[in-house]
Amino acid sequence: MFGKRIDLFKLFGFEVRIDLSWVVLAILVAWSLSAGLFPFRYEGLSTRTYWIMGIVGAIGLFLSIIVHEMSHSLVARVFGMPIKGITLFIFGGVAEMKKEPPTPKAEFAMAAAGPVSSILLALVFYVVFLAARATGWPEAFYGVIQYLAWINGILALFNLIPAFPLDGGRILRSILWGWKKNLRWATRVAAGIGSGFGLFLIFMGILQFFGGNFIGGMWWFFIGMFVRGAANTSYRQLLVRKALEGEPVGRFMKQDPVTVSPATTVEALVEDFIYRHQFKLFPVVEEGNRLRGCVTMKQVKDIPREQWRSRTAGEIAVGCSPENSIDLQADAMEALALMTRTASSRLMVTEGNRLAGIISLKDMMKFFELKVELEP
Ligand SMILES: [Zn+2]
Repeated sequence: MFGKRIDLFKLFGFEVRIDLSWVVLAILVAWSLSAGLFPFRYEGLSTRTYWIMGIVGAIGLFLSIIVHEMSHSLVARVFGMPIKGITLFIFGGVAEMKKEPPTPKAEFAMAAAGPVSSILLALVFYVVFLAARATGWPEAFYGVIQYLAWINGILALFNLIPAFPLDGGRILRSILWGWKKNLRWATRVAAGIGSGFGLFLIFMGILQFFGGNFIGGMWWFFIGMFVRGAANTSYRQLLVRKALEGEPVGRFMKQDPVTVSPATTVEALVEDFIYRHQFKLFPVVEEGNRLRGCVTMKQVKDIPREQWRSRTAGEIAVGCSPENSIDLQADAMEALALMTRTASSRLMVTEGNRLAGIISLKDMMKFFELKVELEP
């Protein structure tokens, strides 16, 4: 369910997207409001009215989360942090950061901006609710406003729990980071609390589930899994970033990789290269070390078996592109990002139109593990 994203609109230059899981959540929210909360709090309205209230409430929640995430992004921009866009998914929103914040102060301001905006929204909605009720507006109207005041308050409180990567955890990390001047230590402590908090939620979920509260218990369980997973990943990501950032690709690559000449038949390619070396990508190199492109499993699969003897690697090779190759001088983090984006574990390293080497995910991870072991 995660990963399928729909682009919605651009706001202040930030792309706003929703994950498909959010659509499911929006329907669940609208349903539980119109069938549960609103009939319980405001008796005697029509089913149609409850449904309109529920849908407006869900849209209001959606817009509130956008305001929350937009506040993070705007403050990030003030501090010169690149934000790719905002994606709303099942547990709220995520402003996608490309790098770690530059200073503890920047992280503090950025993390605090979200909850502060939610508290302000809660107060504004609460004042509107009081005014609407006092001046005799219909129940259906101020009921939704009251819900939005309440849900924004909950949003602020939940996000302020000091469990990394929730906002509160980021605030805690920035304080620890500013105090000891050690980002890695600060992340380890904050992520440790985040991971523990996730475990607590999972445990509470299981208790509730067996206590008879099935849906509530499942919610606790899934949010716990999510917080725990995110805490563990973000700490690992920081370690990898610290180890690889500023290291040129040339440091990890294999300098004399196995290459294929353009005249090699597909049959020979499969027998003598793919089966023997078990790599998924082979550079195709002409005489004089000129790089023509590469062949991967995909190109081989596209050729019918009976043509394996007549077709050659040079014919089926695809040219070098930013999807399968990277410059010798590029940063190792760029290579890692490219591998993640294209789901490939090997890239050609180029120097002009020449092949300089091959970089593989395995070699990068090996370097990372050695570095962590030698420089704890
Ligand atoms: Zn936030």
